[in-house]
Amino acid sequence: DVTATKGNEFEDYFLKHDLLMGIYEKGFEKPSRIQEESIPIALTGSDILARAKSGTGKTAAFCIPALEKIDQDNNVIQAVILVPTRELALQTSQVCKELGKHLNIQVMVTTGGTSLKDDIMRLHQPVHLLVGTPGRILDLAKKGICKLEDCAMLVMDEADKLLSSDFQPSVEQLIDFMPANRQILMFSATFPVTIKEFKDKYLRRPCVINLMDELTLKGITQFYAFVEERQKVHCLNTLFSKLQINQSIIFCNSFKRVELLAKKITELGYSCFYIHARMLQDHRNRVFHDFRNGACRNLVCTDLFTRGIDIQAVNVVINFDFPKNSETYLHRVGRSGRFGHLGLAVNLITYEDRFNMYSIEQELGTEIKQIPSSIDQNIY
Ligand code: ADP
Ligand code: MG
Repeated sequence: DVTATKGNEFEDYFLKHDLLMGIYEKGFEKPSRIQEESIPIALTGSDILARAKSGTGKTAAFCIPALEKIDQDNNVIQAVILVPTRELALQTSQVCKELGKHLNIQVMVTTGGTSLKDDIMRLHQPVHLLVGTPGRILDLAKKGICKLEDCAMLVMDEADKLLSSDFQPSVEQLIDFMPANRQILMFSATFPVTIKEFKDKYLRRPCVINLMDELTLKGITQFYAFVEERQKVHCLNTLFSKLQINQSIIFCNSFKRVELLAKKITELGYSCFYIHARMLQDHRNRVFHDFRNGACRNLVCTDLFTRGIDIQAVNVVINFDFPKNSETYLHRVGRSGRFGHLGLAVNLITYEDRFNMYSIEQELGTEIKQIPSSIDQNIY
């Protein structure tokens, strides 16, 4: 259900030959549904507001038009891709580099928590495509070092997150550095009504694409287990012994609980990394990189890792602490079941979490079932 329904091929979009080669070498045979809907429209220059399930290929849906439109002989920044976290910026720039492998497009990543000086040095060299978080790019734009007057395309991935109060002021100021006729592409799996104001102010007759009509968390089986707080670690231990985990992501609601739990898991004899926003950036990068490369089976984290992170080997997500709202739930659980793969989500539910779980179930129109004593290995 992920792949194209219109029967389009990547050839149908009249892309540069070198870009087409990059797409095929990345192993993409046919466009996914969101790619099929977005790519032709993005290429016409129209603004887009696109909503599609997690793991269905939104990244390439905006990277391909960006790479197609960039003129590699013109050494100015022509497109900016905004994302909410450094890890996602690294991942996204990697996708751009892979798809653009045969092009001469210079991709730069810039985010907070890294050396501003290094970024300034880097900007003395040609950059065509900038991927990063809003605060740092705004800093560089205000200093006049990052020139955005020729930036014809702005992509906002995880757009609703970029419009949360932490980011929105920077995003709006950044747009003011761009030319009046710039194109804006907004992507996410969740769009709360609150984005309407931004949309009305900044997008011009956007094409609205919504592929959420189908079952939101299709392919991901969701279970709950009622536990008391003090039983959670024991319960997790049981899950580890019973589940066939390829790789798992375990979510906690605070960085302190992440560290504590990681310690406990290690004491239980399971390999485990952890990551949260209070760690030094170098350390974060290393953990992210090593986990992606399979150096460790389990990763404990905060919501830093909730959005966008794409690691196909992850087949199990565990909410050690239950999330506070349906958006966070959806993005967390969507870390498994990428691009049509199956996935499993297990929620540890205390008495206080119950009502929250029922309302999330309703809001998402999904079913979270009581965990059975044995789980069929073929469902994840
Ligand atoms: P989303 O942003 O919608 O959550 P991603 O862009 O991270 O999803 O893509 C999820 C996975 O699907 C990635 O591993 C990506 O390489 C893969 N993918 C994307 N498009 C295609 C395609 N057309 N064919 C095969 N795999 C694809
Ligand atoms: Mg994404």
